[in-house]
Parts: sequence; structure tokens; C-alpha cells
Amino acid sequence: MSQSQGSLYVIATPIGNLADFSLRAIETLKDVDIICAEDTRHARTLLQHYRITTHCIALHQHNEEHAAAGLIEKIKTGTSIAIISDAGTPLISDPGMPLVALAHSEGIQVSPIPGACALIAALSTSGLPVSHFTFLGFLPRTSSARQSLFKEQLNTPHTWVFYESCHRIAACIEDLSSVLPANHEISIAREITKLHETIIKTSIEKMLLLVNEDSNMRRGEFVVMVSPKPIEKKPESLNEHQLMTLTLLLSECSIKTAVSLAVKITGVRKKLLYQTALQLAAQNQS
Ligand code: SAM
Repeated sequence: MSQSQGSLYVIATPIGNLADFSLRAIETLKDVDIICAEDTRHARTLLQHYRITTHCIALHQHNEEHAAAGLIEKIKTGTSIAIISDAGTPLISDPGMPLVALAHSEGIQVSPIPGACALIAALSTSGLPVSHFTFLGFLPRTSSARQSLFKEQLNTPHTWVFYESCHRIAACIEDLSSVLPANHEISIAREITKLHETIIKTSIEKMLLLVNEDSNMRRGEFVVMVSPKPIEKKPESLNEHQLMTLTLLLSECSIKTAVSLAVKITGVRKKLLYQTALQLAAQNQS
């Protein structure tokens, strides 16, 4: 990268509480030459609050493909640019991807200024297993397409998570309840960091009741998380060699002796060998 080249910063903004904005985000937005905002009018509230006067232009899903090349040319000649979206981390179900991808292919440095992200805030408070997860973004709009997507996720061995709006939350929970067992756990994070923040983890059956009965549960912004299907524990059993050893010992000695010798030979737990020995003895008698 030449010294005269500018940089591209991807900067997270608050998702409700204006105080959730890092010092580095504020400083960088003051320092760059141009801020690309998803909606310049929306961005104004935040920028004015932090007295950021940097020139702001619009970069949204309808112009970003077209605008990316021009912005990259500016960066190459020394202009530094920051991308922000209406809330949270740009590119996470938000604009910015074409510009960031082009920056990479043109050898331009891309730096994140991390901060709020509804997805991560929701997962971290969900009470569901989150060391692995699948993020589905926004769901399809029709009920049948949502149900097919949910069915595809049913055997996912980790938590799955998606964004939902107030317009579809009730229908979405209804669709979920049609494919999940009644006691399957889900978690909803609503209005994170805002006045009416609500974080609930319960069964799909109870969540459906809550969403239908409490109109507040149909207001605001939502992240919905679905726990993985509980792992079915396979009953423990002996392998072929261990079973043959135990059978042979049982033909020569008492159950007690056969089991204690089998423990020494196979290293298998005494309880399992003893239960198997009893089953074998019962089979021989019948
Ligand atoms: N890029 C953003 C982020 O990092 O979270 C997400 C942008 S996406 C266009 C907006 C969706 O994120 C909303 O419809 C909602 O599902 C979720 N969301 C954003 N803010 C939220 C909040 N404060 N509480 C709950 N969900 C929120």
C-alpha cells in the first residue's frame, strides 16, 4: 500500500442507547474525510450528538454497487472513508459489502472499529449455547418459505438466530411453533439497550402465548434465537470384542468373577459389564 493511500473504516454505531459508542469510533469519524452513511438524515442525530461535522454521503443497498468504484478511487488518492449504518455493525444485514470487497481486491487497508451488534448482544444474553451458531439474517416474508427454512434448521447441532421486525414477529413465532416440539427452548431479545429492553428465554409454546397475549411483545426490534435439538444420548454398550470376552468368561466362571476379570481385561466400567452379564445370563435361561 502506498503511503498516500487513505483507509477504509467500518464503524459500529449504537443500536439504541447513544452512549454505546466507542471513543475510537467518535475520533475516527471526526478524522476521516468522508462518512458513508446508510441514511444521512438518520446519521445526523448521532453525528450531531457527538459534534462530528465530517462530510456525510449516502451509501445504501440501492447505490452501493455503483458507488463503490468511485469511492475506492478516492481512497487511492489519499481520502479516508468510514462506513456506518443506521444501527449496529455495517454489513451485518446492512450495506457496505461491495465497498469492503472491492477495497480488498484493490489492496486497500480495511479497519474495523467494533461496537454494538444486535446479533452478538442478543446471543450473549440468550442463555442458549452460543459457542457455535448459525445466523440467518432476515427471514423470507411468506409463511411457507419461513416454515421450510425452519425445517431445514431442525437438525442443526447449534443455536440458530435471525433478525425479525415487529410486523412479522407474531407470524414468525407461530411458524416456529408449527415445526418445533412444544417444549423446545427459544430466546427473544427485544429492543436491546432501549427503554423497553426485554430478554426472554422460554419454551416455544410459552413464547407463542406471550407474543399473542402481550402487545408489547409485538413492538420494536427483535432478535430470535432457537436452541439446538437436544442431543439424544445413545445407550452405552460393549463392542464386539468386549462382548465376546465377557461371554467367554461367563461360560467358565460366576458372574461376579467374570465381571471383575472383564474389567481388568477390557478396561470397561464395572457397572456396564455387570448389567450386560445379567442380560446375557437372562438370555441363556430363557
Ligand atoms: N447491522 C445491525 C447490527 O449490527 O445489529 C443490524 C441491522 S438490521 C437492518 C436491523 C435488525 O437488527 C432489526 O430488524 C432487528 O432484528 C435487529 N436489531 C437492531 N437493533 C436492535 C435492538 N436494539 N434490539 C433488538 N434487535 C435489534
